[in-house]
Amino acid sequence: MAQPSHSSERIVIVGGGFAGLSAAARLAESELPVTVIESSKLGYAASTQNQGWLHSGAWFAKAHPELANLCYESLLQTVAYCPECLEPGFGGMIYCSLSDPVSLQTWEKAWKAAGIPTQPLLTGELKWNMPQLERDAFAWTVRLPDRSFRPDVLLSQLAATARNAGAEIRSNTTVTGLMMQDQLVEGVSVGANEELPSRLVIMATGAYSVSRFPQLYQAIATEQSNYRLVCLKTHLRAISPGLTVDPFCIVDGVGMNHLPHPGTSVFGTSRWEVVSNAESEGVEKSEVEIIERQLNQLFPNGFDEQVNVHDWAGTTVQAMHVEQIEPGNAPLPTIIDHSQEPNRIENVLSIFPGRATLWAHLAEEVRTTVLEKIGSRQAEASLPPWAIMT
Ligand SMILES: Cc1cc2nc3c(=O)[nH]c(=O)nc-3n(C[C@H](O)[C@H](O)[C@H](O)COP(=O)(O)OP(=O)(O)OC[C@H]3O[C@@H](n4cnc5c(N)ncnc54)[C@H](O)[C@@H]3O)c2cc1C
Repeated sequence: MAQPSHSSERIVIVGGGFAGLSAAARLAESELPVTVIESSKLGYAASTQNQGWLHSGAWFAKAHPELANLCYESLLQTVAYCPECLEPGFGGMIYCSLSDPVSLQTWEKAWKAAGIPTQPLLTGELKWNMPQLERDAFAWTVRLPDRSFRPDVLLSQLAATARNAGAEIRSNTTVTGLMMQDQLVEGVSVGANEELPSRLVIMATGAYSVSRFPQLYQAIATEQSNYRLVCLKTHLRAISPGLTVDPFCIVDGVGMNHLPHPGTSVFGTSRWEVVSNAESEGVEKSEVEIIERQLNQLFPNGFDEQVNVHDWAGTTVQAMHVEQIEPGNAPLPTIIDHSQEPNRIENVLSIFPGRATLWAHLAEEVRTTVLEKIGSRQAEASLPPWAIMT
C-alpha cells in the first residue's frame, strides 16, 4: 500500500448507512482507529428508505445459489446479533405461486441446495395470515425464514458496537472532497475548511458515489474497469392499517411482495429499473400502476375499511463485476479497490452491500481486505460480535 506523507493511522469511512456502519463496527472491533462521517443522520438514505425485507436468500436460490447462501448466513447473523430488529409479531415469509403447481419442485430443490429450511403451512394458517386476500388464487404456498425487520434498530446497534469499540461517528458532517497527492488519497476534506488525514478512505456513499466523487470513476480510454456501477430504482406502496399478517412474496410475474410493519403493509415488486440519475427519487405513475394491478388481483373485493396509501421510490447502486449480466438480480456485496482500477487511485476503497441484508458479509470482506492492504496481523483470529456459534 502506498504511504501517505503524514503519519495518521486513521481509517475514514464516508457514509453512515449499512455499508459504512457495519464496516466501522468490524474494523473498530479489530482495534483499528476508525472515523465515520455521515452528511445527514445515520441511515438517512437507502438504508432506512428500504422495504425492511431481511432476505433468507430463498428469492435468489434458483438463479444465484451463491448469493442465496450469503443471504441465509447474513440472516442468521442478524438474528443472533440484533433480535430486536425483527418486527415483533410477524413470522417467516410465505412464498406462493399464482399459476404453476409444478414449479414448487424446482424451488424446493434450489432451497435445499442452498441449505435454506422450508416449513409447510398448517391448515387454516393461510386464512388467519391473509384474512382479506384472495387465497384460492395460489397454486402452492410454503413458509421460508425471510423476515420483516426494522433497519433503524439494526443500524443503531451497529453504531453502538462501533462506538463501544472506539470508533468516532460524526453525523451531519459532509465530506466535500478527497485530499489527493497525485494518485494518492491522503485523507478527506470535511465541510468548508477541515482536513482529516487518513491512511485509508472507505467510500460507503451508496447511490451518491459517482455524482459526488466522479474522480474515482473517470474512464480511461485504453483500459476497461473491472466493475460497472448500475443505478437501480424500485417503487413501494405502504397501506395502513396493515392488510395481512405475515410477509409474503409471489414467485411468478413481477414478483409482488409484502412486508408487514406495525400498522402498515409495504408492497413492492422485484422490478428494479436501471436509471441514469442515482439520486432520482420521483415516483413514476407507470410503476405504481403495476403494484396497483397486482393488489387488485390479490384483493378483488377491495379492503374492509378505509386505508391510507403512501407511495415512494428509492435508488441504490449495484457495483457489478464485468462478468455479472443482470442488474438487480444478483446484488452481491462488492469492494472496489481503486488502486486496481484503470485510474489507479491509491488508499481508497468503495464498498457496496448489494442488499441491506448482506451487511454482515460485507463487513467481514472489508475487514479482510483492509488488514491485507495495511499489512496488519492485528486481531486476525477475532470473531465478529454477530458470529454464529455452532
Ligand atoms: C426502495 C428500496 C428498497 C429496498 N429494499 C430492501 C430490502 O427490503 N431489503 C434489503 O436487504 N435491501 C433493500 N434495499 C437495498 C438496501 O437498502 C441498500 O443496498 C443498502 O441500504 C445500501 O446501503 P449503503 O450503506 O451502501 O448506502 P446508503 O444507505 O445509501 O448510505 C449512503 C450514505 O452515505 C451518505 N453520504 C453520501 N455522500 C456523503 C458525503 N459526501 N459525506 C458524508 N456522507 C455522505 C448518505 O447520506 C448516506 O447515508 C432497498 C433499496 C431501495 C432503494
